Amino acid sequence: MRAQVARLKAKGVPLVDYHIHLRGGMTAEKAYDWEKKTGIRSGVLENTGAGWPLSDNEKLAAFIKDAKRFPLLIGIQVNDRDWYKTMSEENAKQIDYVLADTMIMALEPNGKPQKLWLEDEYEIKDPQAWLNRYFEHCLTVVNEPVDILANPTYLPPRVEKYYDEFWNTERMGKLIDAAIKNGVALEIQSPSKFPKNSFIELARKKGALLSIGRNNHDDHKEELKRSLDVLEELNIKPDEMFVAE
Ligand SMILES: [Zn+2]
Repeated sequence: MRAQVARLKAKGVPLVDYHIHLRGGMTAEKAYDWEKKTGIRSGVLENTGAGWPLSDNEKLAAFIKDAKRFPLLIGIQVNDRDWYKTMSEENAKQIDYVLADTMIMALEPNGKPQKLWLEDEYEIKDPQAWLNRYFEHCLTVVNEPVDILANPTYLPPRVEKYYDEFWNTERMGKLIDAAIKNGVALEIQSPSKFPKNSFIELARKKGALLSIGRNNHDDHKEELKRSLDVLEELNIKPDEMFVAE
């Protein structure tokens, strides 16, 4: 990884892992040590929303205070769809970026949010109708005031077989156009197989920004491999990468 980081840095590609969860033994201190060791900047975050570790403004403020002991980028992952109405101004001022994915969706209008990776908890009776609904959900999330759309084009395993048909040029284009319009970067997440390169290439062609992240569950290192591989293989240019202001 050291040699790969050196090659990317020589090309001037800004390397920031914006998706380091402080969970499973990962701490702000470890994230900072990792940054010093690898030269890849660390962006730390944790999940906010009802039923998540940062379920209110007080907990979020404590998280920010802890992370600020180190010169790290500080973000949040938002899981409630009204997060921008409930986050305090004070907390909003303190964070560097907001990340969201599309992996939690209410299955019915105003229904209870469902974690889509927990496939035992719900049914998909009509895959096409379900996918159409999911696409609307993706557009909702990308139109929120977020900075990074994590794991874009994710599909639950049960409907993965429709990936190429579902994520056709038209749908990919609509999602990418919305991301560009709203200044939202598209993540190449290391542990995910999504988005496929066809999506990344279309995003680049249209002028979208990209970001990388590990979405860790613990404090194991060297979890950025796929992200770095894609940056190298596709010869991503420095100005194609998102940089938090
Ligand atoms: Zn995450």
